[in-house]
Amino acid sequence: MDYMYKEVSIGFGAALVIYLVVAGYNVGPLLFLGVLGGLAFYLMRSRGVVKTFHKVPSEAQVQVSFYDVGGQASAIEELREALDFIKNRQEIRRLGIRPLKGILLTGPPGTGKTLLARAAANYTDAVFTSASGSEFIEMYAGVGAQRVRKLFKTARDSALKHKKNYALVFIDEIDVLGGTRGKTSSHLEYDQTLNQLLVEMDGIDVDDEVQLLVMAATNRADMLDPALLRPGRFDRQVRVELPDKEGRLEILRLHTRNKPLGPDVSLAELAGDTFGFSGAHLESLANEAAILAMREGVDQVTKTHFHEAIDKVIMGGKLDRRPSVEEMKRVAIHETGHALVSEFVRPGSVSTLTITPRGSALGYMRQTSEDDRYLHSQDYLENQIAVLLAGAVAEEMMLGFRSTGAAGDIEQALQISEQLIRGGMSELGFVSLDSLPPDAKHKAMGDILKCQEKRVRQSLESHQAGLRGIVEFLLKREKISGDEFRSLMDGSAA
Ligand code: ATP
Repeated sequence: MDYMYKEVSIGFGAALVIYLVVAGYNVGPLLFLGVLGGLAFYLMRSRGVVKTFHKVPSEAQVQVSFYDVGGQASAIEELREALDFIKNRQEIRRLGIRPLKGILLTGPPGTGKTLLARAAANYTDAVFTSASGSEFIEMYAGVGAQRVRKLFKTARDSALKHKKNYALVFIDEIDVLGGTRGKTSSHLEYDQTLNQLLVEMDGIDVDDEVQLLVMAATNRADMLDPALLRPGRFDRQVRVELPDKEGRLEILRLHTRNKPLGPDVSLAELAGDTFGFSGAHLESLANEAAILAMREGVDQVTKTHFHEAIDKVIMGGKLDRRPSVEEMKRVAIHETGHALVSEFVRPGSVSTLTITPRGSALGYMRQTSEDDRYLHSQDYLENQIAVLLAGAVAEEMMLGFRSTGAAGDIEQALQISEQLIRGGMSELGFVSLDSLPPDAKHKAMGDILKCQEKRVRQSLESHQAGLRGIVEFLLKREKISGDEFRSLMDGSAA
């Protein structure tokens, strides 16, 4: 439609100029004004004063429903309840209830907040207009506020155009524009933008021709200006959490429903193997696995493709850069150290061991997850520290000295030692970590690590021959599965 207007205006303009020239008028000043006007419009557009917000075409809206969102049953339930309330306009009017204006979705990235907002628009038969918080932030004072006005106007106009009673405005990353006022460096501009959003939300009325609902998403609800959270604005908050095992299974089912799976693929097993994955990770996992199958020219996506894809999603793509032979040997020793101790503390826990460089890692050992855990016992945390330290201890034992390769492991081990102290599971008993003098805190954390280091050294020293054998095998094969690793361990013990 935009294009049609453009073409008609250009045609009309050209015809007018030709007519004036033929009629003998001086068209110079007119042309000059036209060029000036065009230039001003172009500049405003490039600075974003004139900006079009994304309206999802109605066909696309139809395609996203709550059935396309997996593993978020309680978020969907809460959302549906709020939306049913909004849909009941007559009753709200009759009883003089203040309409619900805003719903805030909070939770980690990639858990399906945007998807839920789209499904909500579909559920209420509303037009969907979206923008991201970062789109409002400009150096020029007043531009952000103008964009907020434009966003709400676009939503209303679009609803009228499509003859809909409802319009849903979705603002992603609302923390960027809705952070506490007066705290940002160019605070005047931020404050004006946020004030405008508050004004727009306050202006929503149950008697409006188009009923507007604002939905926003953030990973940092704690950063939001309290004015946004007060009743009458975003007074419904819906938590969108990382999916649990059942949720991951549901999401995997959704994202593999259009893919031919091999008979060896167990989605339940994959759901167990992907603890901590968000919906976006799982979508990427299913996609990467299918890409691998396509590259191999096979017509089914198999378990091997999924396992390779998990590694890729966690660690990133394979690197072309090859480490030196000595480095490869060190990496193999380091990873085998992790894997051996992992099997000692939890038999059957090694899933994959590889020295193929990926992302920022030269190699890695991946563990199978048991059930999702939300509470951690002392022995579980101590075992985790032991597995983390095993890489550095194995390097020192076999090569005489450690390397920088263990820096990340040590960092993680220190974080876990803090958890132990905070949970009252260290020698210090029940203490507040924050009020401990720095020296005492460092000593307590160091003691925890030293104790586990000693335990790891003893275990690895009594399995030196096994360690050497597995390292040789790993150097030859580059990647071994958990089952292969366990049979190598059994072979060396026999
Ligand atoms: P961010 O906070 O980074 O903006 P988000 O929470 O809005 O992320 P989405 O953009 O909704 O996440 O998700 C990205 C993609 O991941 C979706 O398009 C979808 O393919 C997939 N996805 C995420 N969560 C789910 C889910 N719960 N069910 C099905 N697919 C999901």
